[in-house]
Amino acid sequence: MTTDILHDNPLLDFSGLPRFDSLTPEHVQPAISKLLADCRALVDLLTSDQVTASWATFAAPLADGFEELSRAWGVVVHVHSVNDIPAWRDAYNQMLPEVSRFYAEVGQNLKLFAKYKSISESEEYASLSEPRRRIVDHEVRDFRLAGAELPEDRKPRFQAIAEELAQLSAKFSENLLDATNAFAEVVTDEAELQGLPDDARQAAREAAAKEGKDGWKFTLHMPSYLPVLQYADSRRLRAALYRAYATRAAEFGAPEMDNTPLIRRILELRREEAELLGYASFAEVSLVPKMAESVPQVLDFLRDLAVKARPFAERDIADLRAFARKELGIDEMEAWDVAYVSEKLLQARYAFSEQEVKQYFTEDRVLAGLFRVIETLFGVCLKPDSAPTWHEDVRFFRIETPTGELVGQFYLDLYARETKRSGAWMDEARGRRRRRTASLAAETDTIQTPIAYLNCNFSRPVGERDGKPRPATFTHDEVITLFHETGHGLHHLLTRVDELGVAGIHGVEWDAVELPSQFMENYCWEWSVLPGMTAHVDTGEPLPRALFDKMLAAKNFLSGMHMLRQIEFSLFDLRLHSDFDPTGDRSVLDLLAEVRREVAVIVPPAWHRFPNTFLHIFAGGYGAGYYSYKWAEVLSADCDGAFEAAGNAFDPLTGKRFLDEILSVGGSRPAIDNFRAFRGRDPQVDALLRHSGMITA
Ligand code: ZN
Repeated sequence: MTTDILHDNPLLDFSGLPRFDSLTPEHVQPAISKLLADCRALVDLLTSDQVTASWATFAAPLADGFEELSRAWGVVVHVHSVNDIPAWRDAYNQMLPEVSRFYAEVGQNLKLFAKYKSISESEEYASLSEPRRRIVDHEVRDFRLAGAELPEDRKPRFQAIAEELAQLSAKFSENLLDATNAFAEVVTDEAELQGLPDDARQAAREAAAKEGKDGWKFTLHMPSYLPVLQYADSRRLRAALYRAYATRAAEFGAPEMDNTPLIRRILELRREEAELLGYASFAEVSLVPKMAESVPQVLDFLRDLAVKARPFAERDIADLRAFARKELGIDEMEAWDVAYVSEKLLQARYAFSEQEVKQYFTEDRVLAGLFRVIETLFGVCLKPDSAPTWHEDVRFFRIETPTGELVGQFYLDLYARETKRSGAWMDEARGRRRRRTASLAAETDTIQTPIAYLNCNFSRPVGERDGKPRPATFTHDEVITLFHETGHGLHHLLTRVDELGVAGIHGVEWDAVELPSQFMENYCWEWSVLPGMTAHVDTGEPLPRALFDKMLAAKNFLSGMHMLRQIEFSLFDLRLHSDFDPTGDRSVLDLLAEVRREVAVIVPPAWHRFPNTFLHIFAGGYGAGYYSYKWAEVLSADCDGAFEAAGNAFDPLTGKRFLDEILSVGGSRPAIDNFRAFRGRDPQVDALLRHSGMITA
């Protein structure tokens, strides 16, 4: 049995496309166990003293061995996320700890580090291609940041810090969740529900009934909290929920759920970790593997954006206050009124129905529009292709050059299913690389073309039209999501890099990886594209211009205010991890107040405890990295700005340059160099401001 399952195990067949038609959960354990054992043996072999540290004798065979494991495990991860039935879940969960343990071992293997380091210091290094040098540099960097170069007597302390930080992060999010769950407001007077949508009322009613109570129960979880803040006419209800939400995990509640002491401790430990590694601050450590070059550069970037967005944010606030006074009888707009007043003003100014818009975005038309954008911009052809898949709804396509050469292939799994993970994502089935195969006659080079999975959770077609199934229709947000994930897919598929470790999205800096995805989103707001990718499901009419104008206005509604808020969070995060002393007299709240004095247009009440709920930076891996959101938006808008400057959203030369300098280069060159090569200068914020309706001449 065991021999059979290894002999013809689809997970061990790397000759072509994944064999989803013959793959079963029983294949997982034998295949992954074998590959893990192979990889461990390979690591032992390659780290032995007999093996010379060179690209050909060490780095290349290691990458080959690891690729098989990551491809096979990638298939398992993928099936688990798109076909999460019990048998697959069990197969996945059985092997997950083993796979995680293996990668953790590799990350701590100092012999591997020593070999990479010797390559980086060898004469060979200078003669390696740029992509190969990048791969070696990344390996050395990652081992260093994991403490590999510390003196032996410092290593235990470094390890202890890492462990305590992991515990503190986990506790931080547990506290926040517990504090969120600890609050409920049960309303017994129906009059207080005025303004709330029916589904929110119904959910609150059911929540109360579940506990055997009369009335309507509201909580601090988003689906309950948000509708109250946005729609409830009762100012008392809004204020009560707002205060509870803003003071979670703080000193006002149960002491064991208070995140205040954890924040100080996390900041202290991060600073100590940075000092051990030889950096002045944790922010500096955080920036090492990122595109941004220094803390002052990011501070300048955020401040520049803040100054330019400020007049628009001030106008937004003035509009809201005036509308609240005149139309809603709210003389002093408080923090708990902002979402409510915003919603009312949005309705008054730009009311349109999402449902109406949705009728125009029919599936075939949207896909045809998307494909045309890609073909026109990047000079490739997209064609239907065939492959074994994991579900009958999945489609498969190929990308070719105009002369018919295969560039890459992708699966498209559009519809939601009960067994599919939520959200939308791109994942890779296979990366691009050059392979050298030797036969008796000669050595030949072949290119392994990349393959991607594009996954969404859109509604499947329902009903019939003229005896045929009515096509699926998508909301505009869903169309944007599709373009976004396709952008990630193109980054993976259109790469021309021959080394797996820096091909496509591999090795791309964290704060630059959203550039192609957000760039593609721009085309969902491009009027020259929309008539061609819309057709009303009943009449076939394209999207009317008047409706598009309303959508655009709604998109940019209060954009100045929202931008300043993101900048406030980013500046606070960065300064907290650079110039703030966690052992000094000043509190985290003092720093936040200072940041707000500099950039905010709305100052929340003094009892607001935002830091205690800032999961991204204390428990989500975004420490000194929250700025990345705005950073990537600026980059992608600025790239789009190059097409605007050329006067054509499909300007062929600009498209070719975007492909040559950004998409196809992947992680083989620093992202800032890619950007400069494409744009001819450093990133500027003006295009983003323009796209957000904040016109700067
Ligand atoms: Zn993304």
